[in-house]
Amino acid sequence: MSALRPRSQLETHDVFNQPPPFEDVNLFTSDVALQAAVAAAGGEMHAERLSAFGARTGSAETAAWAMQANENSPRLRVFDRYGQRIDEVEFHPAYHRLMTLGVEAGVSSAAWSGVAAGHVLHAGLEFLMAQAEPGVCCPMTMTAAAPAALRCQPDLAARWLPKIVASRYDPSSQPMHGKSGVTIGMAMTEKQGGSDVRANTTRAVRRDDGGYVLTGHKWFCSAPMSDAFLTLASTDNGLTCFLAPRWTPDGERNGIHLMRLKDKLGDRANASAEIEYHGAYAEMVGEEGRGVPTIIEMVHATRFDCILAPAAYMRQALANALWHAAHRTAFQRKLIDQPLMRSVLADMAIESEAATALTFRIAKSFDESADEGAAAFARIATPIGKYWINKRVVNLAYEAMEVQGGGGYVEDSVMTRIYRQSPLNSIWEGSGNVVCLDIRRAIRRDQRSARRLAETMALALQGAVLSQNTPGFVCDAFCATRLCDHPGLSCGAFDATIDVDAVLSRAMPH
Ligand SMILES: Cc1cc2nc3c(=O)[nH]c(=O)nc-3n(C[C@H](O)[C@H](O)[C@H](O)COP(=O)(O)OP(=O)(O)OC[C@H]3O[C@@H](n4cnc5c(N)ncnc54)[C@H](O)[C@@H]3O)c2cc1C
Repeated sequence: MSALRPRSQLETHDVFNQPPPFEDVNLFTSDVALQAAVAAAGGEMHAERLSAFGARTGSAETAAWAMQANENSPRLRVFDRYGQRIDEVEFHPAYHRLMTLGVEAGVSSAAWSGVAAGHVLHAGLEFLMAQAEPGVCCPMTMTAAAPAALRCQPDLAARWLPKIVASRYDPSSQPMHGKSGVTIGMAMTEKQGGSDVRANTTRAVRRDDGGYVLTGHKWFCSAPMSDAFLTLASTDNGLTCFLAPRWTPDGERNGIHLMRLKDKLGDRANASAEIEYHGAYAEMVGEEGRGVPTIIEMVHATRFDCILAPAAYMRQALANALWHAAHRTAFQRKLIDQPLMRSVLADMAIESEAATALTFRIAKSFDESADEGAAAFARIATPIGKYWINKRVVNLAYEAMEVQGGGGYVEDSVMTRIYRQSPLNSIWEGSGNVVCLDIRRAIRRDQRSARRLAETMALALQGAVLSQNTPGFVCDAFCATRLCDHPGLSCGAFDATIDVDAVLSRAMPH
C-alpha cells in the first residue's frame, strides 16, 4: 500500500507548506534589474547570449553540479604512486563540468574577445556564473584579468593571449603549447605580508638565456592548477612581476611545489594552495623593479570582479528569499504578504539593485577606458564599489537566510554556501581598509576618515546611477532609506514611505 502513496504523504504526516525547488529558472530573463543594468551599460546586444547562459546557469543540472563540487572538495596529490612529485590537485568531475560551462561561454575571455561592450558581457556572464557556483569564478576571474598585466610584455602576450581568448577549458596537465585553452592564476601574498607586498622575500635570479629562477614561497595561491601564475619576486633592481608557467620550456614540470591546500570557510569547490618556488622558471613581465605597477593592472581588473561577485550573491540570496516567502505560509498568510516581511524583502531588493546597477556602470567605464574621464571613473569607482558592496553582502546573505527560517541554516539549502562565500571578496585583492586607503590616495585625503569617506562616496554613487537607469520608485526608495538622516541599521528598519509593492514586484524572479 505505502508504495502507492504520493511523495508528499508520509506514514506519520503529510508534507505541505514547503516551496517548490528554485530551479530551472533563467537567471537572466528572471532578473529585471540585471537586464536593465546590462542595457544601461551598453550591453543590450548581448541579451540573447546572456539569456542562453542564464538558462544553463539556473538549471537543475547545474545546481546539482554545484552541490557535488562543494561536497567533494579538491584534493592535493603531491606525489604519484612511484613517489615522484606531481604537485597536482584532483577535482570532482562536477568541478570540471562547471569550468567547461563558464570558460566555454566566455566568462574568462569575453572582455578581450574584441566584441563591443566586452567588459559588460564579461560582467553579465560572470554575474550569472557566480550564482551557479562562485568557486569556479576564481580561476576565470584571474584568467580574465591577466591580459591587463601581460600586455606590458608584448612577446609573452602574443604567446599566451590566443589560448586565453580561445574560450576552451582544457584541464590536462601539460605544457601550454599542447593545450587548446589555458587558465592563469596570481600569486602575490606571502606569509609575512599580503597587503604590503613590498615585504615579499621571494628572489629572482637571471639565467643566461634571459629567463629567471625563482626561490621563495607564496602563502595564498588560488587555482593552483592554472597553467601559469603572475607573481612577484625581487631582483637586484627591486620587486618585479613575473609569469611562472607550470611547465618549463623544456617540457619539464616547473619547480612550483604545492605544500598544502587551505581549509577555507567557504569557496570549497575551489582550491587555494600554499606554494614554494624551488628554482622555478619564470619570465619577466614589464619593467624590472616595477613589479607593483605592472601587477596592479591585473589587480584593478580582479578588484572589479570582487564587486561583481558579491552583487551576484546578493541577487541570488534575494531571489531565493523572495521565492521562499512567496510560497510559504505562516499565521494564515503567505510570508510575502506579511507587512514586516515585505519591508525586509524590499530593503534587500533595493540593496541588490543598487549593487547591480553600480557594478554594470563600472563595467561600462572599463569598456570606455580609452577615454581619460572613463578611466579616471573606473580608477576611483572600483575601490569604492569593492569596499561597499562587500561590506553590505554579508548582512544581506544572513537576512536572506533568516527569511527561510531553519531551512536556510542547513546544508541542503544554497543559503549556507552564499553566506560562507560572502566575506571572501572583501579580504581578497585589497582588504577593506586597504581599498579605503586606495580611495584616499586617489583623492589625497587623510587616513583616519577613509572608511567614512568610502561609505559616503559609495552611497552617493549608487544614488546617482539609480537615478539615471531605473524607474523612479527604485531610486526614490534608495534615497529615502539610505540617504536620510537616520538610516535603519538592519534590513527593513526604515521609517520612510516607499513603494514596497512596486519594488517587490520588480525584484521577484519572473
Ligand atoms: C579565499 C582566498 C583566496 C586567496 N587567493 C589568493 C591568490 O590567489 N593569490 C594571492 O596572492 N593572494 C590570495 N589571497 C590572499 C589575500 O589577497 C590576502 O589575504 C589579502 O591581500 C590580505 O593580506 P594578508 O592576509 O597578509 O593580511 P594583512 O596584509 O596582514 O592585513 C590584515 C588586515 O589589516 C588591514 N590593513 C593592512 N594595512 C593596513 C593599514 N595601513 N591601515 C589599516 N589597516 C590595514 C587589512 O585591510 C586587513 O584587514 C586569498 C585570500 C583568500 C581568503
